Formats: sequence, structure tokens, C-alpha cells
Amino acid sequence: SKRPAANAIISPDFKFEDMGIGGLDTEFSTIFRRAFASRIFPPGLIEKLGIMHVKGLLLYGPPGTGKTLIARQIGKMLNAREPKIINGPEVLNKYVGQSEENIRKLFADAEKEYKEKGDESGLHIIIFDELDAVCKQRGSGAGGGTGVGDSVVNQLLSKLDGVDQLNNILLIGMTNRKDMIDDALLRPGRLEVQVEISLPDEFGRSQILKIHTAAMKKNNVMGNDVDVAELAALTKNFSGAELSGLVKSATSFAFARNTKAGTTAGVSEDVDNMKVVRQDFLNALDEIKPAFGTDEGELK
Ligand code: ATP
Repeated sequence: SKRPAANAIISPDFKFEDMGIGGLDTEFSTIFRRAFASRIFPPGLIEKLGIMHVKGLLLYGPPGTGKTLIARQIGKMLNAREPKIINGPEVLNKYVGQSEENIRKLFADAEKEYKEKGDESGLHIIIFDELDAVCKQRGSGAGGGTGVGDSVVNQLLSKLDGVDQLNNILLIGMTNRKDMIDDALLRPGRLEVQVEISLPDEFGRSQILKIHTAAMKKNNVMGNDVDVAELAALTKNFSGAELSGLVKSATSFAFARNTKAGTTAGVSEDVDNMKVVRQDFLNALDEIKPAFGTDEGELK
């Protein structure tokens, strides 16, 4: 039987370990099962089941937790076209009066390929970052005084509703404010799968820290006294992005320690043998603080 439209194939060289995403194993497998598994069903199965592919996914949660990472890795895994990325404020500010046209353009390549190749079309992923920015204007007559938010949401809705046959499209919306997202966008057939990406717990943090120190460890630039488990315990409420910032800050302390008076003017040959040691990370902990979360507990 015939392969359903834009059924994707997991890239043969895709390895889960290589994704570079820490602490989101559960979330990732939920997203995979609910939103993407049908894309790799064997030919004919989706018709047999009488279902349609999921066309929309909403990832929500605090900033810097890996939403964009996940969206990109999903695309890689499914061998999709390079994702198109757009963000809410950009649509509103830059494209005033033109916003509908720009939403239309977002979908145009996928529609064109579907017309040309039908079921043989590749999968197109559209990433809509800061989706709340276009929603919060809706119905308020605001939109920077233009009401443009309304037309953006309406255009998105009509695109999503119109792609019944266009199984080659997957819209991934992202937001820090799920409460701001228009209900109409969350209905079945639209951004119907919604998954929260929260701050990492201690285990997640150790995974993320391992990812971000993997190179220095492999290249023998990390001191033996650095204990990732200890750092994970000390970084309550840190997001993945903040953990990456912590590692960067630690390297800057190590570099400064290895240069004369901490200036580039006196870069010494020692930097070739420089190591990032525990104390560098402790210094970094004084410098990098989490933006979210409370002392009462982790958000997860
Ligand atoms: P925003 O809401 O601000 O768009 P986001 O959730 O999309 O944030 P990303 O852009 O995916 O966050 O993360 C920013 C960077 O932080 C990543 O490129 C990566 O270096 C690091 N990072 C964040 N989360 C993780 C994670 N779970 N594992 C590994 N690295 C992470």
C-alpha cells in the first residue's frame, strides 16, 4: 500500500546520545509518541488506523530550557527540511500590515512541494517562537495599535485548518506563557499536543553539565577536582541555558588565572596547559544566578 503523505524516516545516522539535550528524556519521549511516532509508522498503517498526523505541537515553559533544541533535533531525527523559524515580536513589529502575507509565506514552500510531489513530499517544520506575542494582542484591538495580532492568529488558524491534505507540515509553537495562548490555537487539529518543558531537576542538571563540559573533559582541559554531581546539587533552579553560561563563566576564570594580571596583554604559554578547576566553577557560581524559581523548591 501507499506511504502516507510526508511520512518521515528516522535518519539512519541519528543517535539519541548525540542530541545534546539533557534532562528531558521523559518529555522527549512523550513528544515523540504523541506528535511524531505516526510519521514513522510503516506504510499504510496510518490509513488503516484512520487517523491523521499531528500538525501542531506547543512547547511551553521557562526560557532557556531547551525548547528550541528539541524542535531542531526533532527535525533532524525526522529528516525534515531545515526548519523555518519565526518569532512573534518580529511578526508584529517588522511586518505590520504585511503579517498575513508573511504567515502565508511560511507555509508556501511546503504547500508548493506538496502540490508537486504529493505523498513524496518531505516534511516541513515551522518553528514559531514567542507565540504569545501575537496572541496577547488578540481581541484587545491593540497589536501596537494595529490589531495585527488578530490577523496573525486568524491566518495561522486558517493555514492549520487548511492543511488537512498537507500532511507534510508540522508547526511547533513555543512560549513562556501558555496562559496567553489563544484557546482557538490549542484545539484538536491545531497545536493539539502541548508539552511542558520545565527547569531541570538535579539529575537533569548533571546531564546538562556533562553535555556542556564534554569537550573540555575529552580534551583534558577539565581539572580532576571538578565533580559534576556536586555542581548539579549547587545549581538549583538553573535552566539549561544558565548552566551553559556557568560553564562559560568558569572557563573565563580559568583563562584569567592563567594569564598575567588577567589581561590578554599578558597571555602566557600556560594557557596551552590551562585547566578549568573546581574553584573556577565556584567563582562562576558567585557570578551566574538563576532568573526563575524560588528557594522553596525546584519547579519540577
Ligand atoms: P527560549 O524560551 O528563551 O527560546 P528555549 O527553551 O528555546 O529558550 P534553547 O534556545 O533551546 O532554550 O536553549 C538555549 C541554550 O541553552 C541551548 O542552545 C543550549 O546550549 C542550552 N540548553 C538549554 N536547555 C538545555 C538542555 N536541556 N540540555 C542541554 N543544553 C541546554
